[in-house]
Amino acid sequence: MSDLSTRLIHHPYRPPEGFEAFAPGVHKASTVIFPDVHALRTQEWKDKSGYTYGLHGTPTTFILEERIATIEGGRFCVLAPSGLSAVSLVDMAFLRQGDELLIPDNAYGPNKAFASVELAAWGITRRYYDALDPADLAAKIVPATRLVWLEAPGSITLEYPDIPALVDVVRRANATREDGRHTLTALDNTWGAGIAFKAFELGVDVSMQALTKYPSGGADVLMGSVVTRDEALHQQVLMTHMRLGLGVSGNDTELVLRGLPTMALRYHAQDAATRELARWMQEQKGVVQVLHPALPGSPGHASFQRDAHAAACLFSVVFDPQFSQRQIDAFCDHLKLFKLGWSWAGPISLCAPYDVPTIRSLPWPHTGCLVRFAVGLEAVDDLRADLAQALATLSA
Ligand SMILES: *Cc1c(COP(=O)(O)O)cnc(C)c1O
Repeated sequence: MSDLSTRLIHHPYRPPEGFEAFAPGVHKASTVIFPDVHALRTQEWKDKSGYTYGLHGTPTTFILEERIATIEGGRFCVLAPSGLSAVSLVDMAFLRQGDELLIPDNAYGPNKAFASVELAAWGITRRYYDALDPADLAAKIVPATRLVWLEAPGSITLEYPDIPALVDVVRRANATREDGRHTLTALDNTWGAGIAFKAFELGVDVSMQALTKYPSGGADVLMGSVVTRDEALHQQVLMTHMRLGLGVSGNDTELVLRGLPTMALRYHAQDAATRELARWMQEQKGVVQVLHPALPGSPGHASFQRDAHAAACLFSVVFDPQFSQRQIDAFCDHLKLFKLGWSWAGPISLCAPYDVPTIRSLPWPHTGCLVRFAVGLEAVDDLRADLAQALATLSA
């Protein structure tokens, strides 16, 4: 039983005796009652052998943690109240005053913002590297570098990095360390979701995801996860998570659990629709480039071809510089099925215009405006017709 779609449905959950339902129960608690003082003093939650307090986990959260870890090919998982809180949890678990952090220049914007403002205030410095250039990462790693973020592909501009090469740069730097303090790699795996590729097989130490996206699939819940294979790393994340008081609700956990059995199906359906629309968009007048790692000519295409066997529902379009931002904004306003909004991997298609030079420190090769599209679950023909009618207003 190796196919992920099958394993998402036939998972190890055992219903309570005499109640053979497929769906796990939704447990909620702040207080958990102990049978006696001995149990109060000794019951252990850190290895999931017992329950002690709502923030330390419930039967419902333990099931979701087990399933996300399994999907990603990891061993341990910690849930956070949003994808972004999972990012900051990783940073706070592994970084201390005086440490350095390296982030890809094309990383998820709020990841960069957390480092630039909060981490900077705590004496942790961050620098950006070019995700497509392992030599740039090698040049920027110093003994104080404790953590290197990876993201595949980059946010908005969708460059696909050579993850094994970046991981190798970090391994080589670690091999020269004499103080025993190693640099860790953490991947924002929201796009891959454990389906497009297996992060741990590519060598990363920590895999973080916004469960808000594919695992939920409903555009109605926020949650994040941090998955590890190494027990010591997991304990570090778990203890920081506990000290920060991060918890997720039983109802939110239920929503994510409910999305999992259809996740692989949705992922591949949205992948096919996205590629179709991205290829069609490439042929339209006024389009300079369509960014999608499966398209030849898209930055990092060769790494994508080698390391991934599926792609998420995102593509970005760079328009001819003859169109002003105002015209591109009007194009977005003309779209009817593609709604304006953040996030992706839900049932509804979304788009948003971006001014790339304002979110990057490395040079950006284009001068035209960029629009990112997130393809939902609508019929492809309807989405194509929507794009066509909005493009017609652009050239008119
Ligand atoms: C959405 C997203 C996040 C943050 O998830 P939230 O649940 O919205 O906080 C982090 N990384 C990536 C790549 C995302 O797309």
